[in-house]
Amino acid sequence: MSEMRRLDGGGAHADAALEGADILLGEGDPVIAARMAEALRAQGAASVHIVGSPAALLRAGADPAAPVGLWDVAVWHTGLSRDEDDLTELLDRWRLQRPGVPVVLLDDAPSARLAVAALRGRAADLVERSDDTGLVAAVARALTDRSDPLGVEGAGQTSLSMLVVGAHPDDVEIGVGGTIHRRAHAGWDVTVLTLSGGGGGGDPVRRRKEAHRAAEVLGARLLMENLPDGSMVDDRSTVQAVERAVDLASPDVVLVHSESDTHQDHRAVHRATLVASRKVPRLGCYQSPSATTAYRPNRFIELNEADVAAKLAAIGAHDSQASTRWYLDQDLLRSTARYWGRFSQTRYAEPLELVHDRTPLGYYHADYA
Ligand SMILES: [Zn+2]
Repeated sequence: MSEMRRLDGGGAHADAALEGADILLGEGDPVIAARMAEALRAQGAASVHIVGSPAALLRAGADPAAPVGLWDVAVWHTGLSRDEDDLTELLDRWRLQRPGVPVVLLDDAPSARLAVAALRGRAADLVERSDDTGLVAAVARALTDRSDPLGVEGAGQTSLSMLVVGAHPDDVEIGVGGTIHRRAHAGWDVTVLTLSGGGGGGDPVRRRKEAHRAAEVLGARLLMENLPDGSMVDDRSTVQAVERAVDLASPDVVLVHSESDTHQDHRAVHRATLVASRKVPRLGCYQSPSATTAYRPNRFIELNEADVAAKLAAIGAHDSQASTRWYLDQDLLRSTARYWGRFSQTRYAEPLELVHDRTPLGYYHADYA
């Protein structure tokens, strides 16, 4: 809901229920779609984008040119799906593409079977298609749940937990230092696992100290293992090293290197972490300086000035590296975050490639990795 988009639609409805919301509407009947779009706009929606088929719906969800922050909520007519199984599958596919965007389902006469399918597909709500008032209320609820920092499911939890895995000291700071700071600041329990002491890149004792200082700056707990720098493999011992951290942190989210990376250690750690995190609800991959052009992020974590400053300070803590590595240049780090910001319509962002997502019903909110 950027200022710009608010100006071109929602400005006149400052107190309305759906103020500034951007809504994707999947409805095959153009007359009904126009009526619903009018009802949504009348309640302050900034934009309503109408699509008429499941393919168009998924295209809109997957469009890399569409910023992740573009849709605040999606509303679909169940008639777009062939049957209940098809609907659940469509919801699953949507959630993979747009994990933070809740779906409100519309049906002419919702049945118990349909309610079960909606629940299985983790839809936010199911309402009658003829009831515009019910629709507006359901969309407003979905928007509220989404901005709840812990989500509906997390309401009883004290905090969420995130584990960030890197092969070498400074890997996670470069990839997601801003995201770590942001989450830690929001009350998340954040654990960083660094699998080597970075002996290949300097004195290991000094690098260990630097790593601890960097984690402190970001508000994370640091675990360090002693795998061989430069010759890591995705064997049982690497998997077990990550499993120990998973057991300790019980993470809701794991972040790790991407497979699309020219560094052999990063690829080995990526593969071992996939295995070790098989029961973790969510796994995403961050970008390293050695990432290849095959790295395709589909999630962008917005950062504020303080997050970027903390990221730069944490990377600066690795001062044995800062003068010798081109990718630690502060201007480059800042402008990279600035570049990714274009995909989330914020000033700064860090990219993630979401690999799997099995978060429970109602777990939607805008602000989680
Ligand atoms: Zn590395």
